[in-house]
Amino acid sequence: MSAKYKIENSILELFNGDITVQDTEAIVNAANKQLSPGGGVSGAIHRAAGSQLWEECKKLGGCNTGKAKLTSGYNLGAKYVLHTVGPVYSGSISDSEYLKDCYKNCLLLASQNKIKSISFPSISTGVFGYPIKEASIVALKTIINFLKEHQEIELVQMVLFTEDTYNTYKSSLEKILKD
Ligand code: ADP
Repeated sequence: MSAKYKIENSILELFNGDITVQDTEAIVNAANKQLSPGGGVSGAIHRAAGSQLWEECKKLGGCNTGKAKLTSGYNLGAKYVLHTVGPVYSGSISDSEYLKDCYKNCLLLASQNKIKSISFPSISTGVFGYPIKEASIVALKTIINFLKEHQEIELVQMVLFTEDTYNTYKSSLEKILKD
């Protein structure tokens, strides 16, 4: 399942599937502060990329919540991995600010490195416990606002692992575009 939307001169695509097999120039990892493989989407990305990814990550000195770091993609189809650390959901207003920073800082880093296509997972909505509907609105609004100002990014894909997550993002996006 997938759906494409035009935002200015760029495409925003929702895709139901596995981020590790996407062939955009960069994929985003919902990482932990140590940038260690861990579980969830991060474990899957490290397994698919191979052990060289962890070797490179070790040298980066970790990553703070909301920030982003770039590495090579090694055995992945994607040339680069952008690692970002989402907030652990706490119910406070800072959650959405940190989540917004994750998307914005990844897109900025992509733009600075001339990356034109990028895939995101649904950051923070696994073990970090962010409710998917709330997270989808923050993610999509941040991406849309960025694309309106940065036409150098040609494609942003949101890769949603489950059908439920895909459907939630789709209804949020259609509501945002209608408002
Ligand atoms: P976080 O710690 O940021 O919550 P998780 O990895 O636990 O990160 O989950 C983030 C999201 O990534 C969840 O919605 C989960 O379903 C999804 N996910 C897990 N594996 C993959 C995968 N291979 N591709 C895309 N999304 C995935």
